[in-house]
Amino acid sequence: MKIIDRLNEDRIHISFEIFPPKTDEGYDKVIAAADEIAGLSPAFISVTYGAGGGTSKNTARIAAHIRHDLRVESLAHLTCASSTKEEVRRVIADLKELGIENILALRGDIPEGMAFPDADRFRYAYELVTEIKKHGDFCIGAACYPEGHVENEHKADDIRYLKQKVDCGVDFLTTQMFFDNDIHYNFLYRIREAGITVPVLPGIMPITSATQMKRSQELSGTVFPRRFLSILDRFGDSPAAMKQAGIAYATDQIIDLLANGVRNIHIYSMNKPEVAQAIMANLSDIVRA
Ligand code: FAD
Repeated sequence: MKIIDRLNEDRIHISFEIFPPKTDEGYDKVIAAADEIAGLSPAFISVTYGAGGGTSKNTARIAAHIRHDLRVESLAHLTCASSTKEEVRRVIADLKELGIENILALRGDIPEGMAFPDADRFRYAYELVTEIKKHGDFCIGAACYPEGHVENEHKADDIRYLKQKVDCGVDFLTTQMFFDNDIHYNFLYRIREAGITVPVLPGIMPITSATQMKRSQELSGTVFPRRFLSILDRFGDSPAAMKQAGIAYATDQIIDLLANGVRNIHIYSMNKPEVAQAIMANLSDIVRA
């Protein structure tokens, strides 16, 4: 099923994300996490695509397992900066062969030391979107950044480029993580004003440790509000308390989004089924209301 058809239904949809293992030894553990998360009957599970080509080979295989064995819709991420156009075309062909209908089209981060752009690679995600459309009837998602993408000084430019990307054939957008919902509401207002009308899934990251917070900040450049910093200050040194507080914070963000009319939410569950389960338990009646 195409994810866009699900997102257009008039009900709440929660989806989750997993990432492939860094080494082959970790494969079974990731599959076990996917199996448990599938037990929550999510709208779909997305599978990330590693930067630099290192952890990419299992994305299609895991996405196929989710779709065919677990009978949950899957979304395979695909990046283009770290692969040649030929390699990207091969992955698209593989996904098609495996019966994957949904792709999240990304540029990916530019590997350090690589000469970029180069004629042999797609430079921006909009070029990848255009390429995917040539190869079949895929439902295509793309990324967006409520706080602006780190490489772009001006948010207005970022939104202009986002519109260009969506106009190439993007069916829905998923946001970078954010920890202050007002930033998301403001972003939604601005992109709707710019004529971007596709569904936008807010990406919620439950932060369950001080280390994870640091890594998230480095990756996304996100701003942590004072309320979150107080939690970290008080509970950061106590793993169990921090985990509970991080789950509560993410739950609170989701409830506020749902209360304000958002219907589709993506949770960066980071291969932690117990975190996904705890959030869903907190929302058990809310998602049915
Ligand atoms: P683009 O849309 O190409 O944008 C990149 C930059 O170029 C932006 O600053 C944009 O404003 C600018 N730009 C775009 N078009 C133009 C233009 N025509 N002219 C000038 N500038 C332009 N990374 C991974 O490696 N694997 C993953 O699985 C993965 N999953 C992700 C999922 C989500 C939901 C998000 C939000 C990010 C994910 N990332 C992943 C990270 C992402 O690859 C990086 O943030 C990357 O730096 C940008 O990718 P993009 O697809 O948004 O790029």
